Amino acid sequence: MNQLIEQLKQYGAVKLNEQLSKHTSFKIGGPAQYFVSVETLDGHVALMRYLDGVGIPYMILGGGSNMLASDQGFEGVVLHPAYQEIRREGSLIFADAGALTVSVARFSMKEQLTGFEWGVGVPGTIGGAVRGNAGAMGFDMSDSVERVFVYQNGEVRELSLGECEFGYRTSAFKVSGGVVLRVVLKLEPTEDTELLKHALEYLMYRNSTQPQGHASTGCIFQNPDTGRYREQLIEHFDKYSEKVQKFLSIGKISAGWLIEQAGLKGLQVGGALISDQHGNFIVNTGNATADDVRQLIAQIKTVVYEKFGIELEEEIYTF
Ligand SMILES: Cc1cc2nc3c(=O)[nH]c(=O)nc-3n(C[C@H](O)[C@H](O)[C@H](O)COP(=O)(O)OP(=O)(O)OC[C@H]3O[C@@H](n4cnc5c(N)ncnc54)[C@H](O)[C@@H]3O)c2cc1C
Repeated sequence: MNQLIEQLKQYGAVKLNEQLSKHTSFKIGGPAQYFVSVETLDGHVALMRYLDGVGIPYMILGGGSNMLASDQGFEGVVLHPAYQEIRREGSLIFADAGALTVSVARFSMKEQLTGFEWGVGVPGTIGGAVRGNAGAMGFDMSDSVERVFVYQNGEVRELSLGECEFGYRTSAFKVSGGVVLRVVLKLEPTEDTELLKHALEYLMYRNSTQPQGHASTGCIFQNPDTGRYREQLIEHFDKYSEKVQKFLSIGKISAGWLIEQAGLKGLQVGGALISDQHGNFIVNTGNATADDVRQLIAQIKTVVYEKFGIELEEEIYTF
């Protein structure tokens, strides 16, 4: 064990039995046996090669803003990419995996590059954002990614946009694995001097629709596809209503709206509560456990399925 700690220390600060609740936006999660804040990209690669070689399990924790961590914690090594350089080359931005998405968005605006203003509202790291193809306000990562440096099967590879296989809140990294090391975004130079103002407008809109002041992990469920659930939507709701027409035109049904229609807002298990403000947010009222959240998720899925025949699927990563 001492030998492992000495190895880990070569790559960054090491903590033993670190509570994951300190590193997740939900403020939930038991102890990580080893928690390493990896300081450089090369060190991150070397450490993953070492761990792969000796067969020690590891996982990546970026900003911890899209995960439900087990109350039992994680046996193995939690790697937190703490390298976070952001730089510009022409209309490209190179951002290290550990850079905050918000910082990348701010940097792009400062550099008079447009296309990524929406990133100011997304918590977490750019590496996590690429893995989940994060998005907001009608945009997602696939609109800006030019290429991605990734660690896969012991090798560092450079994947083109097409090879990332982005889809709605998914990517090749989510489906087949791979650790994002660096992201290259292609943005548009602009003369617009009001980029920051547009970004603040996004933020104000978000803040008015999302619960403030409680720990959460953003949207719990993906928005179901109207391609799959058109019949159920029309059977259970007024086809001519503005809402249903909107869902049909964008191809997605708001999961939060379905949860609200099922009468579930305000439902609570232990310290986990479905937000009154946004049905797709579960908030930690102070002492929620992962188990409380899991039970609440199971209840939501059952009720929505029984009422509307629609299966909700989690957007968050759980372990
Ligand atoms: C208040 C709030 C609002 C939110 N709003 C939005 C929103 O508008 N749109 C949206 O899309 N999301 C939103 N989210 C969810 C979350 O912010 C995003 O999904 C974010 O991109 C996750 O990044 P992260 O670094 O926090 O990932 P983490 O939570 O740390 O990790 C999530 C998953 O990605 C993996 N991962 C992390 N880093 C890497 C890497 N470098 N390489 C490979 N895998 C990695 C982890 O292992 C885990 O499986 C919101 C969350 C909160 C709390």
